[in-house]
Amino acid sequence: MRPETCHGTKTQDAEYHRQWYNSHPEFAERQSKLKREKYSSHSESEIERVKRWHQETKFLAETVLATYWHRSRECMFDLTPNATVFGKRLSEFPCSGPLEIDHINGGGRSELSRIGSRGLRKNIVNGKRTLSDLRLLCFVHNRLYRSDATGGMAYET
Ligand SMILES: [Zn+2]
Repeated sequence: MRPETCHGTKTQDAEYHRQWYNSHPEFAERQSKLKREKYSSHSESEIERVKRWHQETKFLAETVLATYWHRSRECMFDLTPNATVFGKRLSEFPCSGPLEIDHINGGGRSELSRIGSRGLRKNIVNGKRTLSDLRLLCFVHNRLYRSDATGGMAYET
């Protein structure tokens, strides 16, 4: 009678193992299936890990900016009290949506095309960038401010 698996036998001969695997293709297939499953679950957890890292960096960058402005993590539309959109002041529009990082004086587009929003967040967290021209805006105020003639170049974080 052939053994169900080559493991657990007393034969440790390499040639015996090779022959056993060759005569049991279904076993080799099962092994590679297990390997595939292990690999795919590994890449999923890797994706989750990277996603979490980016979320943490976003949170940290927002916290660093809030601390710089002596504020809490909140929309800072009032830092440009005279900005008007469609003839209205920003304060006339209620805050809504997630926080984003805004280049107060514009010019965000060129920086973002160079290092990306993730690069910018990383530089903020690592203290590799001055913060005086950055602030937090909610989604609505960011879009409104961006459309303003002063041209604050905002982006999604
Ligand atoms: Zn707002």
